[in-house]
Amino acid sequence: MLLFTPGPTPVPESVRVAMATPTIHHRTPEFEAIFADARAKLFSLMKTDEVVMLATSGTGAMEAAVINLCHNTLLSINSGKFGERFGKIAKANNLKNVEIKNEWNVAPSADEVIEVLKANPDVDAIAIQISESAGGLRHNVEDIAKKAKEINPDIMIIADGITAVGVESIDVTNIDALLAGSQKALMLPPGLAILGLSKASIEKIGSGKGYYLNLASEIKKQQQNTTAYTAATTLVMGVDAILSEIEKEGGLDTLYENTSKRAEATREALKAIGLKIYPNSPASSMTTIIDENASEIRSILKKELDVNIAGGQDHLKGKIFRINHMGLIKAYEASWVVNAVELALAKLGRLNYEAKASKVFNEIYYGIN
Ligand SMILES: *Cc1c(COP(=O)(O)O)cnc(C)c1O
Repeated sequence: MLLFTPGPTPVPESVRVAMATPTIHHRTPEFEAIFADARAKLFSLMKTDEVVMLATSGTGAMEAAVINLCHNTLLSINSGKFGERFGKIAKANNLKNVEIKNEWNVAPSADEVIEVLKANPDVDAIAIQISESAGGLRHNVEDIAKKAKEINPDIMIIADGITAVGVESIDVTNIDALLAGSQKALMLPPGLAILGLSKASIEKIGSGKGYYLNLASEIKKQQQNTTAYTAATTLVMGVDAILSEIEKEGGLDTLYENTSKRAEATREALKAIGLKIYPNSPASSMTTIIDENASEIRSILKKELDVNIAGGQDHLKGKIFRINHMGLIKAYEASWVVNAVELALAKLGRLNYEAKASKVFNEIYYGIN
């Protein structure tokens, strides 16, 4: 069965093997050396001034960023389930929250965000998904962050890159906290979150907020290649292994280029068989299709064609399907996935099978006319 859900993503064999080595104690020079290695590699991935690993799922990094970087009012961009979560985190921590809410296929413009910012002078942090996984939407975080800092240079920009870090190169010039999670684009099992932090954010963090998620305690420890509490040792070994694997496969730029090509080829292949792309600005992390037969298509793929793709949540349940592009995915697997979708449409009597989707996919991916 091909796993093509936008998280969890398949874990490469070399990484699974690296994580199968005996568990070592986290307070030892052996583990500190592995931690230092993983940390150094994460600096080249995140390109931020500081990097912190947390033994939590992605949501733990969201909460850590919100409580440590927002001290008054959080402006959150809700274009889906994960953006909605930022607002819930603010409220659960007794922070004020202003929300810009849109349908899950609509990315607000920078000007729209700036208007709300001007009307709410108490806002001291903006939280936004780079890629909102609920609908596969790419927000223009870079532009929003730049314009927000022009109005208020002290504002903190929290960018959830859980389905963006490892997918594309992100300009972190105006980003104060960049979040990543192990089980999405980083191709690891769930349980580790990563925060890339700016110098300005470290100043604002000061002595930190919260207890387990206090970033000041973690920064201090992790600069010495250890952690405040027990490290997720196996997953830290995994980070080291996956970033080595990416290097072996040509490096980050090659990964970004191949991911973007697979995303484009998939979108064009599915459009060529009459399907409709859901978001108005698609992310490269996944392709989301809105279709009345979304459930039937997913079910045929899973039961008859050995492909597992994701559906929608909440009001989009049964209305969309999402195909993952994150990770070191072989083009021949992605080509089978679009072909399987065409076969499913043929089985539903919606078209005559012509292998058109795989043809378009391969023409675009391999640059053949
Ligand atoms: C998966 C995901 C998260 C975090 O979810 P966890 O289940 O806590 O790992 C946050 N943001 C986005 C955009 C995601 O896709």
